[in-house]
Amino acid sequence: MSSPMNLPGARSVFDNHVHLTPRGENVKAVLRFQSKGGTAINLISLPDMEAPPSGYYETVYSKTLDMANRVRAETTVKVMVSVGPYPLDYYMFQKAGLDPEDMMRRGIDMAAELFLDHRVNAMGELGRPHFPVEPEDLRKITGIMEYAIEVASDIDCPLILHTEDLGQSGFSELEHMASRHGIAPYRIVKHHALGADFKFQSMITKSTLATRDNVHRAIESGQDFMLETDFVDDPGKPDKVIPPDSVPRRAIMIAQQYEDWERIFSRCFEEVPRKVYGIDLLNPD
Ligand SMILES: [Zn+2]
Repeated sequence: MSSPMNLPGARSVFDNHVHLTPRGENVKAVLRFQSKGGTAINLISLPDMEAPPSGYYETVYSKTLDMANRVRAETTVKVMVSVGPYPLDYYMFQKAGLDPEDMMRRGIDMAAELFLDHRVNAMGELGRPHFPVEPEDLRKITGIMEYAIEVASDIDCPLILHTEDLGQSGFSELEHMASRHGIAPYRIVKHHALGADFKFQSMITKSTLATRDNVHRAIESGQDFMLETDFVDDPGKPDKVIPPDSVPRRAIMIAQQYEDWERIFSRCFEEVPRKVYGIDLLNPD
């Protein structure tokens, strides 16, 4: 049995969706990831209930950028950063008596500026809540998502979407939105793609939770995919959504169970991230 850790040559093991907070495990979680063979993460901004609603995104984005720098200073893990208005921010602004559409559009513009300044690599996670919402709110929330797609298209920025479970029709809706706004559909990442979503093809990039079942389904589909933990770093709920070292653990499983594991690794941990984000995870700059 071969283990990816003791094979010659540089190799990337990438978690495409991680949240960290100064109040949680933060760098320690990344060290757990690193100790199992993880080499790169996509650090995604996390809603912050303590941040004041006015000036909210300045606070949230700068905390994310600071956290990325801490991880870079204290680990060998390569960190790419994504920032954007989280879908549920909509209700937070509503409760605070602010106009959610206006606030979230400004959050999108601010993320776009950071992207143009090369301080972040992608926009997200944004999109729609994962539970049913009132038709009027749904219309506005979808409008905000389309605005993000439009902005991303203008500046050629990758976009990470959080949505309800989509199924084939939902993926087609996203493909249509992408083509309407002129962004390459593979630049749009459906975060939390389900194992069942690998039964059909889509030009939207699928990123799936690194569970054993999802990994098998993704590999056997022959499709492009990325793996993620969606680790939330909640001090009250350790290892939420799944533990931070899950991607390297699944990488070891892949190396043990698949003859062509090297090809799977290069595709999932190097070629797909390069195609979607335009970054080389093997040769950090
Ligand atoms: Zn997330």
